[in-house]
Amino acid sequence: MRPIQMVDTKTQYLKIKDEVDAAIKEVLDSAAYINGKAVSEFTGALNTYMGSGHTIPCANGTDALQIAMMALDLQPGDEVITPSFTYIATTEVVALLKLKPVFVDVDKHTFCMSPEAVRKAITPKTKAIVPVHLYGQAAPMEEIMQIAKEYSLWVIEDNAQAIGCDYTFKDGTKKKGGTIGHIGCTSFYPSKNLGAFGDGGAIFTNDDALAAKMKMIANHGQSKRYYHDLVGCNSRLDSIQAAILNVKLKNLDAYLAARQNAAAFYNKAFAGNKHITTPTSGKYTNHVFHQYTIVLNDISRDGLNVHLAEKKIPSMIYYPVPGHKQKMFASFGEVRYDLPVTEWLTERVISLPMHTELDEEQLNYISSEVLNYCK
Ligand SMILES: *Cc1c(COP(=O)(O)O)cnc(C)c1O
Repeated sequence: MRPIQMVDTKTQYLKIKDEVDAAIKEVLDSAAYINGKAVSEFTGALNTYMGSGHTIPCANGTDALQIAMMALDLQPGDEVITPSFTYIATTEVVALLKLKPVFVDVDKHTFCMSPEAVRKAITPKTKAIVPVHLYGQAAPMEEIMQIAKEYSLWVIEDNAQAIGCDYTFKDGTKKKGGTIGHIGCTSFYPSKNLGAFGDGGAIFTNDDALAAKMKMIANHGQSKRYYHDLVGCNSRLDSIQAAILNVKLKNLDAYLAARQNAAAFYNKAFAGNKHITTPTSGKYTNHVFHQYTIVLNDISRDGLNVHLAEKKIPSMIYYPVPGHKQKMFASFGEVRYDLPVTEWLTERVISLPMHTELDEEQLNYISSEVLNYCK
């Protein structure tokens, strides 16, 4: 059996090595390392895949969120509603821009932002909502967009973990997660579902004016060279990463299917076990399993982690400390947060190996060892 890893980008690369190597070589031969043909080709292909009005490439997913928030003319102290149960990048940029993160609770089953919690957190200072499509499934965007409309709020989707997932509205309309809010952001960090061999990110919007502005912000606030109309930043996707991503984008749907197959294997193996709650997919979304995360009931999480490690099976806690308990936000601590679901999940979730290259032998071994412990 091949060694088991949380993610196996190497085996995935070897399967498309010739095509990837040729694409990299083409960039090297062209010497167009920045804003080369590969960047415009990948951006165009991704825009089509997503069905987005505009796609703006940038340096990473954190920058994508930052650029999105910079484009909205928010004032210091304006409130941005986000889940606490997410990766730090979502909330860090809010504080970085001198805005105030307002943490809300998530749904116990989908782990995504609860629309009811959003509604309760709205104040006259609220300007934006940042739903996170955590672990690979979309937050309930239809409800969130309805609330945003009622209160005239911006919605920025953090789609770093769920690129490719579909969202089905009540009337049957389908859209890609990341293209529903005013702005959507994603990451091409190597372990993400569409991963580069380095850093990368992208921003999606259907709003022409916002697209033009975000393009400028990502490029030192200029649309004409050396004429800087806005304070921006320097955030580019480099040509080599774009060339690699262009090859991988063609395989993205197959990659998502491989993740879904692995998840289905785990789900079947763990069905009915009293200690394990398997992931629940929202009715409106198809889960693309960036992570396969279970909730443990009445059994030690540390114990399972140690047992698996002894069997050479890695496992991870995403995330051990929720946002509202991070020291970096201590200055926002005047609010005493009561986020019972977030805290409950933080103590009980554990993620198992999940990637496109897990074979049946590995899945069998992992699930048998989980079940050996969760007796
Ligand atoms: C990975 C991730 C990001 C940040 O992406 P980077 O490319 O690492 O900057 C933001 N939000 C979430 C939820 C993520 O998982």
